[in-house]
Amino acid sequence: MMGLSWVTDAAGMHVLEAQLRSADGVAILRHGMNICGLLFLWQVFSHCCPPLLLAGWSAALIGATAIAIGLDRHRRRANNAGVGPSDLRRHALGALLQGLVWGACMGLIARSGQTEQLVALWTLVSCIMVCGAISYAATPFSATAYLLPCILGLFFMFDDGGQLPLRALATSYALSLLAGCFIYARTFARQHSTSAQLAEKSEVVSLLLREYEVGGSDWLWQTDALRRINGVSSRFAETLGMAPAELEGASLVQILAGSGWDNGRFAAGLHSLADHLKRRESFSNLVLPVEIKGQWRWWELSASPRHDENGIFLGFRGVGSDVTAQRESADKIAQLARFDPLTGLPNRSHLREVLDQAMETARGRSPGCGFMMIDLDRFKAINDTLGHQIGDKLLSQVARRLRQVCDAGEFCGRIGGDEFAVVLPHVADGAVIPRLASAIIGALSAPYQVDQHMLHVGASVGSALSPMDGRESEALIRSADLALYRAKDDGGGVHCAYEPQLHAQAEERRQLELALREALEKDQLHVLYQPVVDTDQGVVLGFEALVRWTHPQLGAISPVKFVPVAEEARLIGPIGEWVLRTACMEAANWPDDVRIAVNVSAEQLAHPSFVTAVVSALAQSGLEARRLELEVTESVFMGEDMGALKVLDQLLALGIQLSLDDFGTGYSSLGYLSRTRFNTIKIDRSFVVGASKNTAESLAIIRAVVTLADSLGMTTTAEGVETEAELQMVRRLGCKKVQGYYFGRPMLPEDAARLFPAPQRAAIG
Ligand code: C2E
Ligand code: CA
Ligand code: CA
Repeated sequence: MMGLSWVTDAAGMHVLEAQLRSADGVAILRHGMNICGLLFLWQVFSHCCPPLLLAGWSAALIGATAIAIGLDRHRRRANNAGVGPSDLRRHALGALLQGLVWGACMGLIARSGQTEQLVALWTLVSCIMVCGAISYAATPFSATAYLLPCILGLFFMFDDGGQLPLRALATSYALSLLAGCFIYARTFARQHSTSAQLAEKSEVVSLLLREYEVGGSDWLWQTDALRRINGVSSRFAETLGMAPAELEGASLVQILAGSGWDNGRFAAGLHSLADHLKRRESFSNLVLPVEIKGQWRWWELSASPRHDENGIFLGFRGVGSDVTAQRESADKIAQLARFDPLTGLPNRSHLREVLDQAMETARGRSPGCGFMMIDLDRFKAINDTLGHQIGDKLLSQVARRLRQVCDAGEFCGRIGGDEFAVVLPHVADGAVIPRLASAIIGALSAPYQVDQHMLHVGASVGSALSPMDGRESEALIRSADLALYRAKDDGGGVHCAYEPQLHAQAEERRQLELALREALEKDQLHVLYQPVVDTDQGVVLGFEALVRWTHPQLGAISPVKFVPVAEEARLIGPIGEWVLRTACMEAANWPDDVRIAVNVSAEQLAHPSFVTAVVSALAQSGLEARRLELEVTESVFMGEDMGALKVLDQLLALGIQLSLDDFGTGYSSLGYLSRTRFNTIKIDRSFVVGASKNTAESLAIIRAVVTLADSLGMTTTAEGVETEAELQMVRRLGCKKVQGYYFGRPMLPEDAARLFPAPQRAAIG
């Protein structure tokens, strides 16, 4: 500020420049005062002062002024290179020269005048000093250089002893002018350094903002307190495809709503934006669709409210960016997440969405929309025996066939595993679903060629129709699922439509399952024994163990009802094992050529610890293995499960007998008989009943089975013989053993024991 020290920072330079510019601005005042002073001096002193002195002094004043002007001009010309403290010192030199000339005037010229001239001179000098002080106020160094010689001059001017008070007054006058200059200069410098800082800051900010707008995909936006766009940046306008002037003052929400403004359809994001603006809350990363020249883009906006220093709300300021590309790739990912990667079919959640939508559209219509669930029959066996790779290939082929069967209006997908589904958004009449179901069953049941394997699977279909089978998608799916369950229960390969009683049945089943879980521990199970008799002599050869369940509230529940529930709920393992142990214990008390037959479910056989359990039951009871007979049905061969065959071989190796139960009711493939060495084939009661009524088919089947069994070294048991006539008939047909009410109902163990009047065997019938 004084020009005495080096200033290097931008703010200091700026102050220096402002000081000099301010001094330059008022220099003319001083030059004018110099000329006026010169003329005034000639006027007052020309008659009393030696002309030579006056002329010499005048020349000095003109010279000093010229030098000062010259220095200033030189500096201004070199101004481009920037100012420095040396410029301030040169400026002070000009001031010093002029101050010296005026100081010399007070010391030399004043002596030649009287009191009258002296008063005039003082008046002039005080004007000159004020003028100098004003013109050098911003540059205190120059002001000092100017005023100090003047003060010195005043000392000489008032050098009389009697003029001492005047000298003191004049000096303090000059000093206070100087002090005034310093005070002003300090304020001036402060003001300029602050404004320089501010200017620099705003320059930096605008530079950054410019860079932000030009470089990135983002832009700045701003509104006033009335939510109108203002201070529109060119990028913001460009992004909207409008001129900045068009946007200025327009409502932000209206601009973003596009055509939606007219029809009143606002996107959720826009609602949220309007809400934030109204509540004057800041928000960030708000994503909303924006219509630009008929094209929809996705924008992400963030902003905060602006307030002035008094806390008055001014509007919002924020940033925005176009996130259409990111959004689209996110949509693509979501899309991928909606399809099953293996088959390319829509997955469960996608199906659910389509169903929800279809039900919404069909609301109020009857029939509304249909939902079909498809489950492959015997798929698990293929997957287990041939491996997942083959299973996967098979599923892909299934998906392809399903897609071919369904037409454009029907939406098919994969629920998971070997379950598929079809949504029928519009069911025109009651025939549509059965027709499609049978087309699906037909298409999916045709043989598949997968690698070198020729595979056969079937399909079961369950269907439900809105609104009667479910008003909500969840209920409709559950109904279709129950119908599918029923279709599977009926042996598969069929279509079942939902019926209300299925729901009741499912509920009953659920209740039964809950009760069954406790049946074992609560001792509600017991075993009855039904005699198996030799057809010719009527000798008891053994007994079949048949489980019974008596529930305290529900009463006696048939195994026909609860065994399938136990199989499904994975309860058959412990129940079956309990029956096996109980029966073996009981049979151990019988004569040692009487056998005990125990029923075994396919689920039990599949359990890895089954053989161990059998061995343990025999060991615990002390029963010989040859006296135990295990009855399995054809279902254990379902899906050509090699595991079951292996277990049967292990059991045979232990010396246990095997019989094939309910022959002819299941899958009826005589192929199994050659694979496992069954000891006995049990002919189902339905054939016995049929044969006794002389049904040709039943007679033929019994004859064929007996012939086959004989040739394979097996025996046959006719089940459910109730009358003498039936007994005669099965005897004629060649069955070796019979079982049925005619010889005895399933009985309590003590009743069974009474049939052996120890020590010899009983003969009945
Ligand atoms: P199943 O193995 O075919 O058993 C023969 C069924 O026929 C028994 O029914 C028996 O009471 C019945 N029956 C016997 N003689 C006659 C007759 O002259 N006329 C008629 N109408 N029926 C007769 P139950 O005891 O109700 O058993 C039904 C099914 O439950 C059994 O059929 C068997 O598959 C299953 N089951 C029974 N106990 C067990 C068991 O401990 N474990 C397993 N896994 N299943 C069992
Ligand atoms: Ca049986
Ligand atoms: Ca049977």
